[in-house]
Amino acid sequence: MDEKDREWLRAIGGARVRFGVPMSGWTTFRVGGLAEALYEPVQMEELRELILGLARRDIPYFVVGRGSNLLVLDQGIDGVVVVLAGAFTEIRHDQAEEGAVIHAGAGASLGALLSYCRRNGFAGLEFAAGIPGSVGGGVMMNAGAFGGEMGERVLGLTALTDHGETIRLDRSQMVFSYRSLNLERSTVITHARFRVEKEPPDVVTDRISANLKRRKMMQPVDDPSAGCVFKNPPNEYAGRLIEAAGLKGSKIGGALVSPRHANYIVNAGGATGADILALMDLIQREVRRKFGIHLDPEIRVMGR
Ligand SMILES: Cc1cc2nc3c(=O)[nH]c(=O)nc-3n(C[C@H](O)[C@H](O)[C@H](O)COP(=O)(O)OP(=O)(O)OC[C@H]3O[C@@H](n4cnc5c(N)ncnc54)[C@H](O)[C@@H]3O)c2cc1C
Repeated sequence: MDEKDREWLRAIGGARVRFGVPMSGWTTFRVGGLAEALYEPVQMEELRELILGLARRDIPYFVVGRGSNLLVLDQGIDGVVVVLAGAFTEIRHDQAEEGAVIHAGAGASLGALLSYCRRNGFAGLEFAAGIPGSVGGGVMMNAGAFGGEMGERVLGLTALTDHGETIRLDRSQMVFSYRSLNLERSTVITHARFRVEKEPPDVVTDRISANLKRRKMMQPVDDPSAGCVFKNPPNEYAGRLIEAAGLKGSKIGGALVSPRHANYIVNAGGATGADILALMDLIQREVRRKFGIHLDPEIRVMGR
C-alpha cells in the first residue's frame, strides 16, 4: 500500500480507517502484529466502494469479526482488515407462522443476538450463549456447542462478492459442515436470517444461563484464547488426545496448553504468534506420534 492508496482510504473512510493497528487489540488471543490498515464500514454502499476500490488497486483485504477464532502472526497483516460496524450490527425480526425470522447484521455480536432472543422470547439459538464471536464469524465458522450449530438455524444470507456484487443465498445453496461453510474467503457476509420459535422469555433466559454455567465449568473462559484450537477427529475428542499425550500444562514462551481444557491454548502472558504456532506444532507432532492421528486446526491463521 502506498501513500496514494492511504489517501484514498482516508478520503472514503475518514475516522473509520486507521493505519498500523495492533491486531492484539482485535483478537481474543490478544496476540498479533500490525494490520497495515483497519477499516470499519458502516453501511452497504460504503463497503461496496471499499471492496471494489481495493480490488482495483490490488490490495488484499480480510474480514474480521470479533477475532475469537483467529491467530494473527507477529509480522502482522499486509492489506486492509475490514470490521463491519454501524448498520451492519442491527438486529430486527419478522413474525412468521411458527415463530419469527431474525435478520441480523453480520457485525452484531452473538451476545447481542442472544440478548435480542431473550428479550423477545425467541428460542433456538441458546446453544450459542457464551461463544464470543460475531454473527458473520459464527456463520462462516458454523459455530456450535451443546449439540447445536449455526447452520441448523440459518435460513439465508446476504453477502458481497469481491466483484462488489450483492448476493442473497438461500439455505439450499449453502453447505454447512463441521466448523465451516462453503463460501469463498473473499466474500463478505453482511446479513444473516435465522429461524427461531416463540417461547416465554424466562424459559429462553434459563436455558442461556444454564449453557453459560456449563461453559464456565468446562472451559478457561477468563484467559485470553481462541477457543478450541483443533477440530475433533471423527469419533474422538481432540482435548482427550492432547491430554492423553501428556501435554496438558505444556508451555512455549507465553503460550500454555490450558490445564482446564487441553484443546485450549491460552495466552498466559506475553505470548507471541510464534509461541502459539510452535505449541500447535508440538501438539500435532506428539498426537501423531502417540496415536497416529492428525489434528486439523479449527482456528484460522492470518498474516505473516
Ligand atoms: C472462550 C472462547 C470460547 C469459544 N467457544 C466456541 C464454541 O463453543 N463453539 C465454536 O464453534 N466456537 C467457539 N469459539 C470460537 C469462536 O468464538 C467462533 O468460531 C466464532 O464464531 C468466531 O466468530 P468471530 O466473529 O470472532 O470470527 P473471527 O475469529 O473474527 O473470524 C473467523 C473466520 O470468519 C471469517 N469472518 C468473520 N466475519 C466474517 C464475515 N462477516 N464475512 C465473511 N467472513 C467472516 C474470518 O475472515 C475468519 O476466516 C470460542 C472462542 C473463544 C475465545
